[in-house]
Parts: sequence; structure tokens; C-alpha cells
Amino acid sequence: MVDLKGQYQKIKKQIDSNIISTIESGKLINGPIVKEFSENLSQYLNVKHVIPCANGTDALQISFMALDLKAGDEIICPSWTYVATAEAAAVLGIIPIMCDVDPNTFNVTADYIEPLITDKTKAIVPVHLYGQSCDMDSILKLANKYDLKVIEDNAQAVGCKYKSNNGEMKFTGTIGDIGTTSFYPSKNLGAYGDGGALFTNDDNLAEKIHLAANHGQNKKYHHKIIGCNSRLDSVQAEILNIKLKYLDEYNSNRNKMAKKYTKYFSKIDDIQTPFKINNSTHVYHQYTLKVLKGKRDLLKQYLAHKGIPSMIYYPIPLHKQQAFKNYFNGDYFLKNTEVLAESVISLPIHSEIETSNQDYIIENVLNFFK
Ligand SMILES: *Cc1c(COP(=O)(O)O)cnc(C)c1O
Repeated sequence: MVDLKGQYQKIKKQIDSNIISTIESGKLINGPIVKEFSENLSQYLNVKHVIPCANGTDALQISFMALDLKAGDEIICPSWTYVATAEAAAVLGIIPIMCDVDPNTFNVTADYIEPLITDKTKAIVPVHLYGQSCDMDSILKLANKYDLKVIEDNAQAVGCKYKSNNGEMKFTGTIGDIGTTSFYPSKNLGAYGDGGALFTNDDNLAEKIHLAANHGQNKKYHHKIIGCNSRLDSVQAEILNIKLKYLDEYNSNRNKMAKKYTKYFSKIDDIQTPFKINNSTHVYHQYTLKVLKGKRDLLKQYLAHKGIPSMIYYPIPLHKQQAFKNYFNGDYFLKNTEVLAESVISLPIHSEIETSNQDYIIENVLNFFK
């Protein structure tokens, strides 16, 4: 699905030498490189604060802690997302109310969120799924109307830009109150291990995020609040700091692969290629097709037989997962989400374009539908 080895080969010299010098420095946790990387990322994203942490799931949990969300409060998030979005709330006793998504963009919209808002709702957690922004203007408007916080789960969309109605361009993750991301190796900006970060333009929130991620302390052994321990280590920061320089190139290569897939697949009647909205760029964390007429599983089998990997993101929506069963009565039904679970398939896409490999994938998809 990704070519992390190929990507590493191109930057190996720099990576190897920086990893070695970090180890030799002995500053393995909170070394100067962690601060340097945070500053570089904050400059890149044009956001005031970037606070690194241990992974994208922690980033979400810390965002809820920093916003003082408590057990019994509700957040609204899509059911059509990775488990972390809802799980990070649920571990704190916060109730994840799951909403449906637009069947074309795969993203939540204000229309699906609004009917679920109650007196207990404290925040909306839109997810910029597969690398394209949600319609943030309408989500912010809704949040404003009901006085809700907005936490953007930006784990799949680092580098994606959203243009609001007033013409302003912003990176996703820097539009709401807090943005969170993951540096899991296969993400668009990936470490060689776990990592994550939070983004905010709000000084007060930044302070609370720092506290929450660091045992509630801003001075060693002085604990102001109950926090957790969530750090990005120096070796991962070195790697991310190098890879950040190539992020635009990586995302542009993903776009080239996506464009080529779409050129061929848009001719196939039983396939719907990724739907692009006008006010967002796309960083194609995933290239996800909708396969119509129940042919998805057969296509997946056919590709596997030809040695081509493919993935279903996600085979079971969150509202259907056993872990969340106590939040719903059995007939909770999200129409679009349930159709997506039966019809999507993601093909290999990454930063290292290998023309002959992609041609082989295209040829076989075309053959299947012949
Ligand atoms: C990957 C991912 C996360 C979690 O990131 P980890 O670093 O694996 O904890 C959260 N939300 C979404 C949408 C993701 O894709």
C-alpha cells in the first residue's frame, strides 16, 4: 500500500547520520530537535502552536482534556473514521455520538451533525478523511450557533489546504479550536515509529495542552492538573524534521498517482473515483474508490490473486463495533456509512511513484471490469 523503503533510500544518508548524532547526544527525550521540529511544523502550517505528543490517538485525548471535557459530555464525530477518533473520547467517559457522512466526499457535514446536537454536546470532531478537507465553513458556523468547540482530526490530511468562503486559505488542522495529527509511519508525514501532535492558535489552549501532555506540570514535580505522559522522542523528531522538507513533494507525488488512476478509472461505469470538492486540496492519504453493484469484494479478490494489495477503510463502521455497543440501541442506522462499508476499496498510493507498478494495477482493474 505504501513504499516506505523506497522513500527511505532517497533520504537515507541524512536520516542515518542525524539518528546517530541524536543517540550520541544522549538527549533522547525532549532534546532540542523536538522543539526545532515543532517550530518548523508551526511555520509550515502557519499556526501559532504545535505541541508534539506520542501518537495521534493521544493527541485527540489530550485535546479533550485541554478543553475540560468531562465524563457524560457528548462530542459528535463521524462513524466513518478510524476507531481512535471516538475511542479517545470514550476512555475519558465522554460519549461519542456518531453521525453519518456525505456519500461522495466521505466527510461529515453540518447537515448530518445538527440534528444530533443536545444540551450535553460540547464539541464537534470532524475528520478530514483520506486527505481532503471537510466543509469547514458550515461546520464552524454550526459550532458558533451552538457554542461548541471544534477539534479537527487531521491524521490523514497533513498538508491539505482549505479555502473558506472569504477566500482565506488555511491548512486543515489549523481551522478549528484544536487540530490533531498522527505521525504513524504510513501517514503522509510519517516517523519511523509512533508520533503525534496538536495544533492551535489559542495561547491559553496551548498552555493547557502542554500541561495535559506532561503530567499536568509546567514545572518539574509541580502538578496543576491530572494529565498524562505523551511525548515525541528525539529520534522521531529528527526523522520528521527531515521528512517535513519533502512533504510537499510527497503530497504532489500522491496527487500524480491519483490523477493517473482517475484518468483510467473514470471511464468505468461501475466505479466512482474520488470526488474532489472545489475549496480543498487533496493529499490522497488514501485513493479510495466506490465500487457499485456489489462487485467490491470480487474486485479485491481478483487484485489479491494478481498480487496487488488493496484495503477496505473501513470494513465495520464504528457504530457497528462491539466496543461501542453500549452507546446505541440496536437499530441505530447510518445509511450512507453502511453503504460505504460495503462499497469502498483503497488502492496503493504513496510518495514513490513506480510507473510500471501503477500501470500493472490499472491494467488489472480495467481487466476486471471488462
Ligand atoms: C491514524 C489515525 C489516528 C490515530 O493515530 P495513531 O498515531 O495511530 O494513534 C486518528 N484518527 C485518524 C483518522 C487516523 O487515520
